[in-house]
Amino acid sequence: MGTVEILSRQVRGSDMGDIKGFLKVERQTAKCRPVCVRIKDFGEVGVIPKAAHSQEQASRCMDCGTPFCHWGCPIGNYIPEWNDMVFRGRWVEAFRLLTATNNFPEITGRICPAPCEYSCVLGINDDAVTIRENELAIIERAFKEGIVKPNPVKRRTGKKVAVVGSGPAGLAAADQLNQAGHKIVVFEKDDKIGGILRYGIPDFKLEKWILDRRLKILEKEGIEFITAINVGRDYPISKLRNQFDAVCLTCGSRQPRDLTIEGRNLSGIHFAMDYLVQANRRAAGEHTAIDNLIDAKGKKVVVIGAGDTGADCIGVAHRQGASCVAQIEIMPKPAACRSGEYAWPRYPLILKTSTSHEEGGTREWSVLAKKFIGENGQVKKIACARVKLEKDAGGCPLMRELPGTGFEIEADLAILALGFLCPERKGLIEKLKVQLDSRGNVKADENHMTSVQGIFAAGDMRRGQSLIVWAIAEGRGAAYNIDKYLMGVSNLPAF
Ligand SMILES: Cc1cc2nc3c(=O)[nH]c(=O)nc-3n(C[C@H](O)[C@H](O)[C@H](O)COP(=O)(O)OP(=O)(O)OC[C@H]3O[C@@H](n4cnc5c(N)ncnc54)[C@H](O)[C@@H]3O)c2cc1C
Ligand code: SF4
Repeated sequence: MGTVEILSRQVRGSDMGDIKGFLKVERQTAKCRPVCVRIKDFGEVGVIPKAAHSQEQASRCMDCGTPFCHWGCPIGNYIPEWNDMVFRGRWVEAFRLLTATNNFPEITGRICPAPCEYSCVLGINDDAVTIRENELAIIERAFKEGIVKPNPVKRRTGKKVAVVGSGPAGLAAADQLNQAGHKIVVFEKDDKIGGILRYGIPDFKLEKWILDRRLKILEKEGIEFITAINVGRDYPISKLRNQFDAVCLTCGSRQPRDLTIEGRNLSGIHFAMDYLVQANRRAAGEHTAIDNLIDAKGKKVVVIGAGDTGADCIGVAHRQGASCVAQIEIMPKPAACRSGEYAWPRYPLILKTSTSHEEGGTREWSVLAKKFIGENGQVKKIACARVKLEKDAGGCPLMRELPGTGFEIEADLAILALGFLCPERKGLIEKLKVQLDSRGNVKADENHMTSVQGIFAAGDMRRGQSLIVWAIAEGRGAAYNIDKYLMGVSNLPAF
């Protein structure tokens, strides 16, 4: 039995937490910087909670017996156990428990949408425990106290694994496989490591030094990072197969959904990721060609699509000095709280107000964008109509345009944040000839192996566009199966 399991059993064997903590303490989330201040820069919006605050909040975890939060967390974090350690001020043990299941808690602790909290038993008739913030408090304290240190691997297996793609799935797989003793090379086509963590998620959600701090540790532990190499184009597949004993594909799912309506070819209409990548590069002081510049300064910005990516675009547009920002969405406004359709402990589809929404702008639902209207080749307005979600004879969802509801929105910058379809097929996927599933993602069996022997897949590339915590879970799962494939057995956790 490992140290962490012993620690976890010890905790569960004792009286956990303050048994009446949830009756005495109300949920209180940590503060964010005031809107009027944070809007002027790209610095992180959230503020790390103070120790006393986290200890008090952790006392609300009530040792419910069957911790559904643990089920709700895709990596199965030992939530009640580390909440108890936080409550008792045993931060080092909390850190050990946390990092037994999560490679990058400093990232999930900041920007995980915390499905665990929607499964918290306390959430049935009260406010859930502040699980995500407690997680952040543990890991940031551990960094501050110098407990998070490189742990170079003592014995190498002589096996080599290539990880293609350096987002959270690739980094989690690399970390796990390196700890198992294999030589790991991570290939990345961008000029810096991190995937969407680096070039999608804005700094006001995740400052990039947080990523760099972790990357330094991974490098010191022996992982080799090779950037600006597009595997399949700059690095031949034959070499990949000859030089490595196994390959883990973690290339993400970046093919954006388009809006092919009249006027789509006008200038001033961009995919969200094109906008966000540039914004992140500019925030990092990287060069952006002036003729390709997408900037919201002084512009009327319309973001089409109400997901998280759209919310990130709103935050960037405000910081760039947009004159106004509107977000429109074809789907109806979600309910403010759970309905029977999303009964506890399921992750519900409910109205979410991000920190970017708090900073201004308008939001409208049940709006269909019908046509981009331009002047001199530049978008100026979007013709819209209101729609109603109905079902067709076969029960499939159907959007019915409501007659007489047409209207126009002024827009000199339109951002398409309509989600992602699948991974890019050109290059690597085509050349490797791996099979795809019905949605166009890379097909892999229950062991993460693709249709090609020795080639594994994980993260968005396999699941479709998802969450960081799912990417970590996928990377860990793939690592376990690759280790088993190479060695016959694996001591890594199965996910
Ligand atoms: C704008 C935006 C904001 C988001 N915000 C959140 C959030 O707040 N919280 C959350 O939980 N989730 C969020 N997500 C989702 C989350 O970021 C993704 O689910 C996650 O990054 C997927 O990780 P991944 O490792 O599978 O892929 P990615 O992060 O997409 O990384 C894939 C990497 O592979 C590289 N690559 C591709 N092909 C090749 C090749 N041939 N050779 C070499 N390298 C290659 C790419 O350049 C990229 O760096 C967000 C997504 C977006 C788009
Ligand atoms: S990783 Fe996400 S789901 Fe898991 S405990 Fe942390 S906040 Fe909750």
